[in-house]
Amino acid sequence: MGRESGLAPGLYLVATPIGNARDITLRALDVLRDADVLAAEDTRSLRRLMEIHGLAPGGRTFLAYHDHNGAKMRPRLLAELAAGRSVAYASEAGTPLVADPGYQLVREAVAAGHAVTAAPGPSAALAALTVASLPTDRFLFAGFLPPAAAQRRRSLGELAPVPATLVFYESPRRLAAMLADAAATLGHDRPAAVCRELTKRFEECRRAPLGELAETMAATPVKGEVVVVVGRGRSETVSDSVLDEKLEAALGTMSVRDAADTVARETGAQRRHVYQMALRKERGER
Ligand code: SAM
Repeated sequence: MGRESGLAPGLYLVATPIGNARDITLRALDVLRDADVLAAEDTRSLRRLMEIHGLAPGGRTFLAYHDHNGAKMRPRLLAELAAGRSVAYASEAGTPLVADPGYQLVREAVAAGHAVTAAPGPSAALAALTVASLPTDRFLFAGFLPPAAAQRRRSLGELAPVPATLVFYESPRRLAAMLADAAATLGHDRPAAVCRELTKRFEECRRAPLGELAETMAATPVKGEVVVVVGRGRSETVSDSVLDEKLEAALGTMSVRDAADTVARETGAQRRHVYQMALRKERGER
């Protein structure tokens, strides 16, 4: 059986930093300290992270689990779970299963009746969404688009009518081509953001319409890790009840003018319409 770890048996999905090592959660550290078995997409990265935070491997087994050995390694990990051990799994960075391995492992662990627990934490998609300055009330995580241009355009075409903020992961090598296709398919005017190297030294977020971002990135390619966030098209009409709710919150801290500006920018609704609504709310007319 396992060590006297104090961690209940089961699979623990541990989110790890996407750049800044201090973004690890206290609970993630507890799980990594106490788990009987440490599984990781890249065991060297996990060892390094543990070392930074002063966690000793303590003679525990480190097992690599990634896209290329998943089928072979799953029975091993399931056997550890069946033996009543606690297994921590971390992907290379961020949250496992989010454009990263772990889905099949979770499926099989659940099917076998094992406890599956998240130790949530960083994810580049959410970090980008929080700084992009685009609506966050509804978003669709689209992961990586296909690298081949024709399939990429087809995928973008499917996403074009989706009334939500879209979040993409993209390699810096393909960024300019992806943005050009996105501008052509989703609209040059659609508000967007390229969020790069989040939580790292050269973190930046460029916010501009898709067409402009496509031109900038073609002229001056960037390096590092990138998330592309695309706001909703203007054609989507945001319901008055959504506007009302947002105005209610904004008017709590802002003037009518600022509240209208903020809500119009955030939702893509016509500023004049939002301003009239804000005025009516301020006068108590509702
Ligand atoms: N599971 C991870 C998560 O929860 O964010 C994502 C893993 S995926 C294989 C790696 C991609 O995430 C990168 O290509 C990039 O698009 C994005 N990414 C990861 N770290 C990032 C960072 N610090 N800044 C911007 N994007 C990042």
